[in-house]
Amino acid sequence: MPAPPFVIAHRGASGYLPEHTLEGKALAYGLGADFLEQDVVASRDGELVVLHDLYLDDTTDVAQRFPDRHRHDGHFYAIDFDLEELRRLKVFERRRPGAAEAVYEDRFPGGIGLFRINTLEEEIELVDGLNRSTGRRVGLYPEIKNPRWHLEHGIDLSRRLLECLARHGYREPGDAVYVQCFDAAELRRVRVDLRCRLKLVQLVGQGPAYEDLLTPEGLSRVAEYADSLGPAYAQLVSVGDDATLKASGLAGAANAARLTLHPYTFRRDVLPPYAATLEHLLESFLTAVPVEGLFCDHPDLAVRVRDRLAREARAPELTAP
Ligand code: CA
Repeated sequence: MPAPPFVIAHRGASGYLPEHTLEGKALAYGLGADFLEQDVVASRDGELVVLHDLYLDDTTDVAQRFPDRHRHDGHFYAIDFDLEELRRLKVFERRRPGAAEAVYEDRFPGGIGLFRINTLEEEIELVDGLNRSTGRRVGLYPEIKNPRWHLEHGIDLSRRLLECLARHGYREPGDAVYVQCFDAAELRRVRVDLRCRLKLVQLVGQGPAYEDLLTPEGLSRVAEYADSLGPAYAQLVSVGDDATLKASGLAGAANAARLTLHPYTFRRDVLPPYAATLEHLLESFLTAVPVEGLFCDHPDLAVRVRDRLAREARAPELTAP
C-alpha cells in the first residue's frame, strides 16, 4: 500500500483566513498540514515576499493607500513598492478582480484589516519556530512565481529563493521542502545551472502550452530535473457514467516516468458535479489515484479524510484471524 499522501496547505489555511498571512499559516500548522505553501515574488528593493499575484490589487488596500502607483494597465505591482511600503498595506480576503465581492463568499469577512504582507524569511522563521516548539517536522513548499518576468525586472528570483532557503539550512534532497514552478525551462535551470539539490515540482496546467510536456516523452524529460508533477486534480481522473473515478492516462504516464504526483487544489467551496462534498471528492479521488501529496485550502478536512482512509486500509489486517 502506498504511503498516505501529505497535505499541502494551499496559501495557508486559505479556506479560513486570508491567503498568505502568517495567521493563516499558523492556523494551517495547527490544523495538521504537513507542508505550508509560499508563493514568492520580489519587492522593488529585492526582498522576497509571500504573495500569489504579481500585483496587489485583489488582496490589499493598495488602491486606497497609494492611489497613484498603478501602471498603465491599471495594476499595482508588488515590484514597484519597497518592502517598507508593502508592510503598510492591509491584506484582505481575496476579491474578484476590479470588484468588491469576495471570490469565495463564505470565507473570512472582507472588511477586517488585521493582516499584513510578510517576507519569505519571516515565514520560514515561523515554521522553524513551530517545528522546534511542537517537535513536528512541517515543511516548506515555495513557488517561484513568474521567473522570466522578474528577470526582466533585474531580479533572479530563483537564485534568491534558493539562497534564502540555504541560509535557513534547507539545502539537501532530504530536507523538508519542495520548490515548485510552472516554467519548465526555469525549473531545469534551477536543477542544472543553479545546482539545486532540493526536491523540485514541475507545475502544469491544461491546454496547448502543456501538451508537449504531458506526453510520455515530455514527462521523461521533466523527470531529468524534477521529482514530482503538480497538475490540476481534474487532469488525473476520468469520470465514468456512474460518477466513479478512474486514474487518467496522465496519472499512469507520470508514474511510468517516476514522477510522484502533487495535484492542486482541493477546496470545500468549489466542487465538481460528481462530488457532493469535499470529503466525498477526496475519498473518491484518493481511492482512484495514488498521489504523494495534495494541495488543499481546508487542510484539516484533507488530513481527516486521509487519516480515515489509512485506518480503513489497515483495518482488515488488524481484524484478520
Ligand atoms: Ca502557488
